Amino acid sequence: MNEPNNISTTATATGKRLVVLGAGESGVGAAYLAQQQGYDVFVSDFGAIADQYKAQLQGWNIRFEEKQHTEAEIFKAAEVVKSPGIPEKAPLIKALREKGIPVISEIEFAGRYTNANIIGITGSNGKTTTSSLTYHILKNAGLNVGLAGNIGKSFAYQVATQKFDHYVLELSSFMLDDMYKFRVNIAVLLNITPDHLDRYDYQLQNYADSKFRIAQNQTADDYFIYCADDAETLKGMATRTFAAQLLPFSISKTLPLGAYLNGEELTINTPNNHLQMTITKLALQGKHNIYNSMASGIVSKVLELRNDNIRESMGDFKSVPHRLEHVADISGIRFINDSKATNVNSTWYALESMPDNKVVLILGGVDKGNDYNELTSLVKSKVKAIVCLGTNNQRIHDAFADEVKNIVDTTSAKDAVAAAYKLATKGDTVLLSPACASFDLFKNYEERGNQFKQAVMEL
Ligand code: ADP
Repeated sequence: MNEPNNISTTATATGKRLVVLGAGESGVGAAYLAQQQGYDVFVSDFGAIADQYKAQLQGWNIRFEEKQHTEAEIFKAAEVVKSPGIPEKAPLIKALREKGIPVISEIEFAGRYTNANIIGITGSNGKTTTSSLTYHILKNAGLNVGLAGNIGKSFAYQVATQKFDHYVLELSSFMLDDMYKFRVNIAVLLNITPDHLDRYDYQLQNYADSKFRIAQNQTADDYFIYCADDAETLKGMATRTFAAQLLPFSISKTLPLGAYLNGEELTINTPNNHLQMTITKLALQGKHNIYNSMASGIVSKVLELRNDNIRESMGDFKSVPHRLEHVADISGIRFINDSKATNVNSTWYALESMPDNKVVLILGGVDKGNDYNELTSLVKSKVKAIVCLGTNNQRIHDAFADEVKNIVDTTSAKDAVAAAYKLATKGDTVLLSPACASFDLFKNYEERGNQFKQAVMEL
């Protein structure tokens, strides 16, 4: 499992032009690593570059431009590293493809310069939680491990500056799209539910294909960990072959290998190892988090960590902010921040873990092609009022007008909290779980969650 399989023996960089498109965390990290490896680096961002990244590029003497793309500079590239935020449809990307200039992700690029054991985690929901939990377990067990991908410092920058033996990488579908040779030693696919369909021609199939790229370079020495209760995952697996050893997890059926639940007892079996623990001891509660804990637990057993260590870390993990985060109880009303729920499926799991008929749900924002029907029966049983937080809430009104009598519109976190507080009574829960992206009213989901928390604290 530890062969240096990602190292490219042919890469001689000296003097070759590497262009980095997009100067965010991943782009700036890739630029740093490329310069260290002897490339002639040029960074181009069509938008304004954040001050902190500009200062870094200047400090490292890396050439860059912002608010424009100078094609004469960019087309000199031997290879281009593209930020995951830039869609394939962007005219510049199309032009690069036509010219046959390879366009890769920062993960693909950085992977060439490390022989660390790679644990890659993807899925529509639960990536950050599972990556953070896995990292927590591995680190507490004494492994020399880094956490990167969609989270924290970029993988490229860490490869350039650290010597980790293992990396836990949170991999989004956009990152996977431009991965070609990168090999993931232990791959986790948590689930596949509709998200980001605007980037995949509104075809779930295209999005699912992208997720399965995590397994594309695996060998018989590697592991593919997946959810055996997830219909879309099973559908995708039926049409593919896998070189890696398969380790499924399920909460509905007993499995000889992988993880399963029997009442409150969680069992994990890998080819050489076995772990048992009760789910009441898990730090992360809720059905979706049992899945996340199972996935992290299987990774830990594949790495042959000690059961005591795993149990302890699964029990003392502090949940990540903005994911079903308990904010406060005010006048007997519980406020929960699940701002990271940016699609219908994550809101479904949030609602599922709530008590019946006691929820005032704050919903709305930028809708990425949501099918609200999936929430209808849960909304019916759990939700007493809906507060819309978004600039255009018509689809929410249309979807739930028959189920919920009180549906009100707001356009700020402060107004949403005030409205929800008025609609709630003692014993209720106000849940911000918007099922939508935040860009109509906020910079990102963190800002939405932070403003929600602040408004709650000011009640
Ligand atoms: P990601 O990084 O994939 O967006 P997060 O861990 O940040 O996932 O969680 C995003 C949202 O999805 C949160 O609202 C969380 O409560 C919910 N969630 C977490 N794990 C799962 C899961 N396994 N299945 C469904 N929803 C989940």
